[in-house]
Amino acid sequence: MSGTTPGHVWLVGAGPGDPGLVTQAGLRALRDADMVLYDRLAPPELLDACPEDAERIDVGKAPGGAVMTQEQINAALVEHARAGKRVVRLKGGDPFVFGRGGEELEALAEAGIEATVVPGVTSAIGGLAAAGIPVTHRGVAASFAVVTGHEDPTKPAAQVRWAELATATDTLVVLMAVGRLDGIARALIDGGRDPATPAALVVDATTPRQRVVESTLGGISEAAREAGVEPPALLVVGEVVAVRERVEPALRRPLAGWRVLVTRTRRQASTLAEALTAEGAEPLLLPAIEVARRADPDAVRAAIDALSAREYAWVAFTSPNAVDAWLDLVRAAGQDARLFAGTGIAAVGAATARALEARGLSADLVPSRGSGEGVADALLERGVDGARVLVPRAERADPALIDRLRGAGAKVDEVTLYLAAPPAAPPPDVLAAVRAGEIDAVTFTSRSTVRNLATLLDADLDSLRGAVVACIGPQTAEAATEAGLPPHVVAEEPSVDALVAALRRYAAEGA
Ligand code: SAH
Repeated sequence: MSGTTPGHVWLVGAGPGDPGLVTQAGLRALRDADMVLYDRLAPPELLDACPEDAERIDVGKAPGGAVMTQEQINAALVEHARAGKRVVRLKGGDPFVFGRGGEELEALAEAGIEATVVPGVTSAIGGLAAAGIPVTHRGVAASFAVVTGHEDPTKPAAQVRWAELATATDTLVVLMAVGRLDGIARALIDGGRDPATPAALVVDATTPRQRVVESTLGGISEAAREAGVEPPALLVVGEVVAVRERVEPALRRPLAGWRVLVTRTRRQASTLAEALTAEGAEPLLLPAIEVARRADPDAVRAAIDALSAREYAWVAFTSPNAVDAWLDLVRAAGQDARLFAGTGIAAVGAATARALEARGLSADLVPSRGSGEGVADALLERGVDGARVLVPRAERADPALIDRLRGAGAKVDEVTLYLAAPPAAPPPDVLAAVRAGEIDAVTFTSRSTVRNLATLLDADLDSLRGAVVACIGPQTAEAATEAGLPPHVVAEEPSVDALVAALRRYAAEGA
């Protein structure tokens, strides 16, 4: 834990929706938090940045159904800070743009509690930007106002001065407007704004579900009804809406809005999920495999002893999981990288080599063909007759590697480390999306992800027939075909980046 003060509250703006739009200061506060009170509009992914044991409190703020009242929230902030906690109050957008951050800060000041405000990217500006609507634009708009649409504009006591605002600024951005579009448009038109002024609604801005409905001030309410617009949405009125047509082509992404199934283990899913998110897609994690570590302690001890005694010519790793599991066992036995001195290290492919690098070991041999047979062939080329080879790996792994090495006269010790099997309880929301046929693409990064997904989904595998199937390599593709999901896309090389690039190319061509 870093040296941030306990008994302190951070009012953190989480940004408009994309978790990547939080600030560094916001992330730092989350990483140090003992407790987080978060709103509905704060991206849930950000909570993953908190320490595992940090308390997470949903304070709701769903329209009409607050979980905690503002007074309760203020009181909770004071109480937990007084108890010496580092408290983060995480809010969508910027804490002071209709976020009631000012009231919370007042309560903290009154109670004599130190606080820090971490500004955030407000949806009012950033959300429009993501939709290709610049809030100001040279020659088009030199001023903007951000207004709440929460109040009924027809009430005489309304705080928002619609009549003055109607013509006071070039761009008008209205938050919380979805339920009152009719009244707002009427009030602006009555105030003198031309009903033909371009207007748009940006729904779920900066998320993979982002949608834009364009119309005119006079027509926006009807257009919203037709499109079934639901909060959260931004209403923007002004000539800048017309700029969108010219700038938006540069923002288009072939995978925007695609819901893509990620089937690898939760631990390995993040790089693929991040690469997909960067392309505007929505990754849905359905880990088809869970890794349950279980190794025979005697076999492990014997292999470690033989390594110490420099009896192995080679140790061959066939997956990043095997690297991590084996090195954890080595560590637990009180050994370190020196144990491998004098032994050649082979890795099946780039990902496994990287996993070794991360543990301070360089692979001596990475075959150009990334498969168990590829490793065997590369070792055979070096000559393994009479040599001892250690293969620490998963239970029920493909026998080809070991068969081939033994066939060439090697003495192979296989040590099984873990069982990769379908998880007992797959996430129900993702399963529901699969069953509803809402998946646009499914990614497979190994044969076992295919096999295990087939076991996991059973008859529901049929629901994936309409989806684009993307495989990381030819062997995975073969397995997918056997499972009845012939691939549309195969990566040019076995890497996450190549997989996403291939999927992107496919989507671009299909568009
Ligand atoms: N403090 C927030 C605003 C809170 S008021 C900010 O600075 O963005 C809540 C309103 O913000 C919603 O009703 C909606 O109008 C708008 N909003 C917030 N996030 C949004 C998003 N991702 N897409 C569209 N509108 C959003």
